[in-house]
Amino acid sequence: MSTRIAAEWTWNGERFERDLAVVFEGASARIEPAENGCTRLPRRALLPAFVNAHSHSFQRVLRGRTEHRTRADRDTFWTWREKMYHAALSLTPDDLYDAARMCFLEMALAGIAWVGEFHYVHHQPDGTPYDDPLATARAIAAAADDVGIGIVLLQAGYERGGYNRDLHPAQRRFCTADPEVLCQRTAELGRTRRVGLAPHSLRAVTLDYARRLGAFAADHAWPLHFHASEQPGENSDVRAEHGATPVTVLQRAGLLGARTTLIHAVHLTPGEHALLGAARAGVCACPTTERNLGDGTVRADLLDTQGVSLALGTDSQIQIAPLEDARQLEYHLRLSLLERAALSPPTDQTPDGLARRLYAAATTGGARSLGLPAPESRADWIAVDLDDPSIAGAEDVSLLASLVFSIERTAITDVWAGGRQIVRDRAHAGSAGIVDRFRDLQRRLW
Ligand SMILES: [Zn+2]
Repeated sequence: MSTRIAAEWTWNGERFERDLAVVFEGASARIEPAENGCTRLPRRALLPAFVNAHSHSFQRVLRGRTEHRTRADRDTFWTWREKMYHAALSLTPDDLYDAARMCFLEMALAGIAWVGEFHYVHHQPDGTPYDDPLATARAIAAAADDVGIGIVLLQAGYERGGYNRDLHPAQRRFCTADPEVLCQRTAELGRTRRVGLAPHSLRAVTLDYARRLGAFAADHAWPLHFHASEQPGENSDVRAEHGATPVTVLQRAGLLGARTTLIHAVHLTPGEHALLGAARAGVCACPTTERNLGDGTVRADLLDTQGVSLALGTDSQIQIAPLEDARQLEYHLRLSLLERAALSPPTDQTPDGLARRLYAAATTGGARSLGLPAPESRADWIAVDLDDPSIAGAEDVSLLASLVFSIERTAITDVWAGGRQIVRDRAHAGSAGIVDRFRDLQRRLW
């Protein structure tokens, strides 16, 4: 049983075209000429849905709770982290489910069909595993299933507070002392779901631990994700332990490859962009989070020049809007370089060239990072309202640039994920119940 939909404009992988139909068969899709028998979507454009390559769903509870000064000298990533740890310590598996449902509902409404959940809140607050050691992972996966989006569970390895640093009490929940145990638990989860491994960072694990996870991920052809070079403090700790900065250390350890994604990669040292390119590794930028936390600017231009695949993530969930992240990737460069079209190579002066690159980060780059099939071949699509005030008047070649630089979520009317329509006329059937439960959680938590 297939579903055939046809809009005024359809993205064919290269450009918007008229008179095309998107045909869903199960979780796959194909594009063919529109004929009779299609469901017509007047004044709509169809395009592949977004892939969110980096998420910590529980951090949705922090929204609105950390936007103030907490000390006289400086508020930083590290002071924010204290608040994040408070939340991480307080949440039960049921709470994690409610927070994840809230987060994934917003992702669905924003046109995200797949999320890579970098999951590290594994255990009870004192560090003891739950009776089912996968209880929290399963709770988050169930939340994605309920909302209807796809999830890749990136099981994070955490071992220590840092090089010569004591474990923070909240970090007990994150730690799995034996990497083999984490690998075996992930393999169990992997029997029914898409999974990957994620040594949290070279701060939180030793190189031996990272190597073990890397080898296991390679044996199973799973994605391997690391946080790397998010903050200068992380670079100096890694330099003190290993004599080099994170990307260089990972490269020397053989941990960079086509299935590796580094999250952030903000504070790279000269030459590290080329190391990533040579290894065919990817980078997931999270520009909304990076500016919220004061991390810095991802030099996407230098990465792009080296052929590094770029993906995007909502990370701390301060805002969930994939094309906002895409445009901020470019805007941060404009502010630091004092020029426009910073991510367009000099040879590409086409009217939608820059927009295509940014849209690719929100779709193709994310799919590559999570090991998913190409965007156009999956039954994960969105419809946008051509008359929404944020994009009205855009057609043909100006449509993609209007979407990338100006779209508001109000323009996203319908979302299909895995061939199933999960958003219809800007609404998700589960919204009311999900919001009620989340509001109760926030009242208890704060
Ligand atoms: Zn993160």
